[in-house]
Parts: sequence; C-alpha cells; structure tokens
Amino acid sequence: MLQRVYGVPPRPVRQGVVNSLVRTILSQNTTAANADRAYRHLKDSFPHWQQVARAPERAVVEAIRPAGLASQRAKVIQCVLTRLEAEDASLQCEYLQCKPTAAVLEYLEAFPGVGPKTAACVVLFELGRAVFPVDTHLLRISKRLGWVAPEVSAPQAQRFLEPLVPESLRYELHVNLIAHGRTTCRAQRPKCTECVLARLCRRQGCTA
Ligand code: SF4
Repeated sequence: MLQRVYGVPPRPVRQGVVNSLVRTILSQNTTAANADRAYRHLKDSFPHWQQVARAPERAVVEAIRPAGLASQRAKVIQCVLTRLEAEDASLQCEYLQCKPTAAVLEYLEAFPGVGPKTAACVVLFELGRAVFPVDTHLLRISKRLGWVAPEVSAPQAQRFLEPLVPESLRYELHVNLIAHGRTTCRAQRPKCTECVLARLCRRQGCTA
C-alpha cells in the first residue's frame, strides 16, 4: 500500500560510516532541515573529522547550533570521533564491514549518546544491513496502527517490530513510513481521510 503512494525508495548513496553517524546524531529530536543545516555548517567549518575531534568544544557547538541541543551533541560527536580515531586513525571504519550485524550494533550503541535508532540507521543506510530503525515517525504510526502498545518506547518498538518485518522489506518500509509520517500521519492533524492505511488503522492515541 505504501509502495503505491511512495514507490520503491532508491538505495541510499553511501556517504561513509562516520559521516552517516554524525549526521544521524545531529538528526535526533530535530527536523531533517535543521540537521542538514548543522551538518553542512560543521563540514564547512571542519573539512576533516579529525579536526572536529580536536577542536575546542565551543567551536563545534557553534557549528552545529542549527540542530539544537548543541552543547550536548558536540560532546557526543567529539567523544565518538575521538574513540573511533583511537581504533583507526583514518576514520574509514572499514573493520565494521566484516563484523556481524549484531556486533556492529553493539559496538555503536556502546558510544555515549548513540542509541538503538542511531546505530540501526547507520547499519541500514551505510552498511546496507537488513535492520529496522524505529524513529519518532515510525513509533507514532506504529502506535496509531495498533502495532505496538501506546506506552512502548522507540527501542522497545524496534526490538519488537524488526523480527516481524521480512528482511527484504525493512529498508523500504522504514523509508516509506518516514515519508508517510511527514506527509500524512503527521504528529498533529493527521490526514486520515487521505490515508492509504486508513482501513487497517485503529487510530490509537490519535486525537484528530
Ligand atoms: S488513518 Fe490516520 S492515524 Fe491511521 S495511519 Fe493513516 S493518517 Fe495515521
């Protein structure tokens, strides 16, 4: 159904594990537009990630201010980069390609500030592995559809839903549910009368 509306999403252009990880950290709890602005500003200010790792924290905070929570995010980004650089000075992270998916997720989630959604996004988009990140859009839609209970957290929903989604559909469903959450099943005033999922939906917790 979602495919009829949103199509089959093209595979993402790989941008590198570190780029993807930093971009995903910047996208937590903010809009895609704000995250993109912060990411571009950070890359313009520091052409190499090694420079970000060594920069004064206030310079990183300034560069990523458009994303919000800049002080908190700067600490996370600098900590992640410093630790990754200690393992591989080039920051290419090629060693992750050889690890099983569960091991990569565990490795990434061990970084402070990197949760299951951020780790799964990097693994899905950058390593091309079949995981199913649950972000704010997927959590909201899953609750409204009645796939998960209203009190469930995003990490809990991710653990519950991933095994239920066939591996071959995980990327497409993740991308299309985000599109659906942005355009139709919005947080405020969802467009239920136009929704392709309306017949399946329990509208749980939906106030519209
Ligand atoms: S019917 Fe409404 S609440 Fe249900 S998925 Fe569609 S837009 Fe969301």
